[in-house]
Amino acid sequence: MRCVVANWKMNLLFPEASNFCSTFAENYNPVEDVRVAIAPPSILLWTIHSQLRGRGITTFAQNGHFEPKGAFTGEVSMAQIRDAGCSGVILGHSERRQQFGETDEVLAKKVAAAQSHKLLPLLCIGETLVEREREQTFSVIKTQLSVLKGVSSGPIWVAYEPIWAIGTGRTADGRQIHEAHHFIREELRVLLGEAGSSVPILYGGSVKASNFGSILSVPQVSGALVGGASMDPLAFAEMVKTAQEA
Ligand code: PEP
Repeated sequence: MRCVVANWKMNLLFPEASNFCSTFAENYNPVEDVRVAIAPPSILLWTIHSQLRGRGITTFAQNGHFEPKGAFTGEVSMAQIRDAGCSGVILGHSERRQQFGETDEVLAKKVAAAQSHKLLPLLCIGETLVEREREQTFSVIKTQLSVLKGVSSGPIWVAYEPIWAIGTGRTADGRQIHEAHHFIREELRVLLGEAGSSVPILYGGSVKASNFGSILSVPQVSGALVGGASMDPLAFAEMVKTAQEA
């Protein structure tokens, strides 16, 4: 199975998002083995879900709270995300970790909460440039993945996103991606047993239509989490086509 996920972050207003859906849908033919998801800002979730329903495109939230409900102003629960038509939720994006202080402890609760609401967690992991230069990449990834210990009871996807490659135009090279994905696969097998062999591992970090084919040819790469380039419907459709033809 291959997976292509668009992360719009805090971008696009309703008319732009709506135009995206029309143009993308016109240029997209679903294929069984390639999963396509769009993660808009939460305020657009229901609208996008309604517009894309029945077209083989699912929606993911970009974050969710672990508590089922209550006095958490500004937050959205997993039940509400599910209610808005989503099938998954991005968790632990580096922007959430760095700018909103999300810790592995909190993420373990979020993964469990997502799974208990039948949402697919897409757990993002990855090292900073300083950590890579200090040769701490594997230990950082190992710690970030350890949130899956004892909590994962259902399907999960993982995205390897080296932080130095996000939004910078600088992608990791094939060897760096292969080493990281191979390490993640081994860790997933340790943490999840046989189920760890089939968890899709996506790459994220300045993926665009022109480099996606070569990234996808790296062993253990199941697809991509795409930020900036995912807001152009034609470029995103081209990336999906690349995954379908790979
Ligand atoms: C992301 O937001 O997860 C991401 C990978 O962004 P970009 O593609 O813009 O680097």
